[in-house]
Amino acid sequence: MQTVDRSIKRLEAMGAIRVDRRVHPDNPKLPIPSVYELLPYKPQPPLVQKPVIPGPRKRLPISATKRARILDRDGHRCRKCGVAEDLTIDHVLHWSRGGSNADDNLRVLCRSCNSRRHDGDLEGIDS
Ligand SMILES: [Zn+2]
Repeated sequence: MQTVDRSIKRLEAMGAIRVDRRVHPDNPKLPIPSVYELLPYKPQPPLVQKPVIPGPRKRLPISATKRARILDRDGHRCRKCGVAEDLTIDHVLHWSRGGSNADDNLRVLCRSCNSRRHDGDLEGIDS
């Protein structure tokens, strides 16, 4: 009986039911049935959070001013072979590996050197 009372109290606290605990008009100790009213009840969403599935990081564009700054810093030349044409801004630590757009993770490479750079470090300029 106590378990039922506890459950009823919990349902009341949740706002799922309303209980009219009636008292006998002549003798308050004489038990008479309570009236239970079901209330429109919206179940609460479960507290379990959806697992976050890590997807590919959205690539942030390198701004024109940053690009110009990196080009100036590196003397408008490929850091690998020194050519001054077809220059690209390269991520030292690849974006896909968590590298950032911070200046010290960016460098100038020509398109040719950049494309020859597989997924590792370029000989001669890293370390
Ligand atoms: Zn080059």
